Amino acid sequence: MKIAICPGSFDPITFGHLDIIRRTAKLFDQVIVLVSTNQKKSPCFTREERVEFIRRVTGDIPNLTVDTDDGLLADYARSKGATAIVKGLRAMSDFEYEFQMALTNKKLCPEVETIFVNTTAEYMYLSSSVVKQVCSLGGDISEFVPAEILPDIINRLKQTN
Ligand code: ADP
Repeated sequence: MKIAICPGSFDPITFGHLDIIRRTAKLFDQVIVLVSTNQKKSPCFTREERVEFIRRVTGDIPNLTVDTDDGLLADYARSKGATAIVKGLRAMSDFEYEFQMALTNKKLCPEVETIFVNTTAEYMYLSSSVVKQVCSLGGDISEFVPAEILPDIINRLKQTN
């Protein structure tokens, strides 16, 4: 069984993430969306909220599960017998960091490949930070995040501003 892991903070999940996740689910038998907390960023949504948002917008993907882990990605991938870690690439600015992480993970866990999936052109500019910034300033984010989670995101970002 070919298992892919799509790791990220997903703070919150956007159409950009969802696009990568859906395309990965078509290529692999099983996809695990792995929610972790990036040590460099303090999240806006709790881990439980981020997981619940992902579950809400991926309920139609039968071969997908959502999990959390804050340890080493290489250890997690090995423990699940994963074939690949799948990452989305937007612009060259993503590349240097992702390239470094891929080489590090290959060293730590040689049996797992990192695969890069190119962004869809219309989501190239999209990130969780853009969603939070635009929403907190009163902008329309309905083109950025799925309708099922839109009210929760707007409510939260209004509360914090
Ligand atoms: P992190 O905070 O760990 O960088 P993110 O939640 O921001 O995690 O992103 C998780 C993954 O999704 C990364 O591989 C990132 O490149 C990818 N990603 C995020 N937004 C997009 C997008 N608009 N198009 C393609 N990939 C994306």
